[in-house]
Amino acid sequence: MRFTDLPTPCFIIDENRLVQNLAVLRDVARRSGAKILLAQKAFSMFSTYPLLREYLAGTTASGLFEARLGHEEFGGETHVYSPAYTPDEFHEILNYADHIVFNSFTQWKKYGNLARVAGKSCGLRLNPECSTQPDDHAIYDPCGPTSRLGITEANFQPDLLDGIEGFHFHTLCEQNADDLVRTVAAFEMRFGRYMEGMKWLNLGGGHHITRADYDVDALVNCIIYLRDKYKVQIYLEPGEAVVLNAGYLVSTVLETMKNRKDIAILDTSAACHMPDVLEMPYRPPVMRAGEPGCKAFDYLLTGRTCLAGDVIGEYSFDVPLMAGEQVVFEDMALYTMVKTNTFNGMPLPLIAVRRADGTDEVVRMFSYEDFKNRLS
Ligand SMILES: *Cc1c(COP(=O)(O)O)cnc(C)c1O
Repeated sequence: MRFTDLPTPCFIIDENRLVQNLAVLRDVARRSGAKILLAQKAFSMFSTYPLLREYLAGTTASGLFEARLGHEEFGGETHVYSPAYTPDEFHEILNYADHIVFNSFTQWKKYGNLARVAGKSCGLRLNPECSTQPDDHAIYDPCGPTSRLGITEANFQPDLLDGIEGFHFHTLCEQNADDLVRTVAAFEMRFGRYMEGMKWLNLGGGHHITRADYDVDALVNCIIYLRDKYKVQIYLEPGEAVVLNAGYLVSTVLETMKNRKDIAILDTSAACHMPDVLEMPYRPPVMRAGEPGCKAFDYLLTGRTCLAGDVIGEYSFDVPLMAGEQVVFEDMALYTMVKTNTFNGMPLPLIAVRRADGTDEVVRMFSYEDFKNRLS
């Protein structure tokens, strides 16, 4: 049973699934009055931006290139935050951004005048120092003990707030609304007294809003509480939640072999096409497969780079895997296309969309030139 007739490896973004997520987010925005932005760090497939634009207020960027992409391809509001701007980059960012968030008072003093003269709405990223993530998520925790992300209470300088219109915090990763509520309490305790006169408050990303068990009502209530108490526009900037479960990475089995375990070598790679599998680490769902031992035939699914650890994981199937068969990784829209690389000379997966009527359309193909052009 083939999942697609397109050549593999290929990413396929499912428009129906995408619209389901977008409808949930638009509903949150309508009920709460918040504006929701796409965090392009997680997903920058700009050919989908015209569709996303019907549901979201704009984009957020981690620097010049994402800001430019959001401004040129998405429209709406463009927000940008970076831990530290470079002078060259900053001048160009002024062409694209509406909101600019600074990570320190030093950055604010360095660039604030330029930004204000250019008519930008300036804000500060604050660190509420409230870790809500499990210990094994330390690399995703901006509230960790030596974090560089955001201004701590100890480093806060209330005398330098003239011209600041809003605050930003981003502390969550794949979390539910209860962790947001705890974080808001910590934020208010440390910084609530400085909210007077602010125009906006950005609650960052990491809200897993489109997950089945997400408490949307608690999120909406939290936003309404903040909005009414401080009379500010609330922003959310989710990445993952926009495209959760909305994409596939389709691969083909090239070889099977045995070394204590059955091994399938695929035409894709964890290291090149889904690096979060190794980095996070994380186990992607595979269509028609289960945990090892659940079904009759267990396989290590592996990539075809020379990296020994290029192993996606162990999965079980109802039937033996054979060369030529497709293996479909699910939930492959987020933090994938933005992170692919050509290590080992691996070709990049083709990018396609599955239209609402079920047809697959190629959006972009890559070639040898894409590999060569990044080298010299
Ligand atoms: C990564 C990031 C986001 C998006 O996070 P998700 O976990 O993908 O929702 C939003 N804002 C900032 C500042 C980020 O660094």
